[in-house]
Parts: sequence; structure tokens; C-alpha cells
Amino acid sequence: MKTSLSGPTSFGPLFLVVTALAGCEVPSDTQTRQTNVPGQTASTNGRTEQTGSLSSAPVLASYSDVPTAESSPSGAELAAVRSVLTRLQYDSFAANAEHCGYIGLNEAGQIMLTPINRGSEASCELPQIPAGMTLLASLHTHGTYSPYYASEFPTSDDMLSDMAQNVDGYISTPGGRLWHVDSDTRTVRQLCGRGCLPQDPDYRPEDDGPVEPMFTLADLRRWEQS
Ligand SMILES: [Zn+2]
Repeated sequence: MKTSLSGPTSFGPLFLVVTALAGCEVPSDTQTRQTNVPGQTASTNGRTEQTGSLSSAPVLASYSDVPTAESSPSGAELAAVRSVLTRLQYDSFAANAEHCGYIGLNEAGQIMLTPINRGSEASCELPQIPAGMTLLASLHTHGTYSPYYASEFPTSDDMLSDMAQNVDGYISTPGGRLWHVDSDTRTVRQLCGRGCLPQDPDYRPEDDGPVEPMFTLADLRRWEQS
């Protein structure tokens, strides 16, 4: 999810603010979803859908059952993240939508990914987690450039969502930046800067805003409220 900006005209941006906030309820929304077992129907955002329909693999009942391990943005983990986010950048630009999933370890201790979900312009509902997977981190794109969103920044909601699940996070931006959320230190830092991942052809660097190499959760909250 990304932070909405108030634009010079009020109606379009205000509508987008509401949409983004509704989509940003990741901790509570995904907790609800995770209590549904495959085959049951769940009502999410007013629509009914079949959960577990994407895969026949068993899923865990709640996040408290999901084992986690410490993420380290280097080596095989970072290589896998860069590879999947490179592909998802193009998918996000083509669909004008955020994409999201998790990286973790399978039972043999090898890097694995969950299925990837396609979200909306400013939010993405994380997928269910296969049984046997140990989570390392969430990952999501910030989709396409828009003058109505501060897309080059992680959000405090991005950080809170990861912290609630006791995982770290990776975020790619329309400008091609890659961020890593460290939930233990409550900081987020750029692993690599503008253009290190594929860039939205419509991206406008002059609209970045005050992007720093590193932010604390408190920094982001202060900036979002300013
Ligand atoms: Zn985000």
C-alpha cells in the first residue's frame, strides 16, 4: 500500500484516499481471511469468494501458527527477491496494480515463494500461506507512478503489517527502488536506489518527495501526518 497525497483538486484524490485506507487494513483483514479454511466461503470487502481456490495445498488456520525465521537481505534470499520483483514490476505497470506475496523457506530449508496476488492501484491483499512454509518476509510492489500517491516511500502501514506477522518486508517502487523493512529495529532502508529495478515508463523523479536512504517507523508516521 502507498500513502495518498492531497492534490490541488479535491475529489479524485479524496476518493483515492478512502480506497487506499480501506485497502490498507492488512493486519486485521488478513487475520480474518486466515481463519477461513479452504473450501469455506468468506466475505471480503463485500464480495463473496471461495478461499483456497487457487491451490489445493492445505493452508494454516491463522498467523499464530505460521513459523517465521529472520530475514536477511543478502545471498539467495535477496537474489530471489530481486528476481521476482523484477518480473512483478512489469506486471504491476501493465495492470496498474500492486502485486504481493511472501518469501520463505520450504521444509527442506530452501527459498520458496507463495503464489502472488494482484491487488488494486494502492493496496494488495496478501496470499494465504502454504502449510510447511517458514516465513521470512512479505514482498509487494507499489505499482505505477501516480501524482496522487507517494509511491517511492514505504508506508507506516506496510511496516505495521510486517511487524504484526513478525516478518520483514520488501517493497519495490515505480522509480525502481528496493526497500527492506526490518521489523526488529522498526526501520526501513533502501537496499538499492532509483532505477535498480525496472522503472515505470511514466515515472517522474521530480515528484519523489523527501526520500531518504533510511526511515524509522516514527519518521514515516510524522511524514504521513505532515
Ligand atoms: Zn506499500
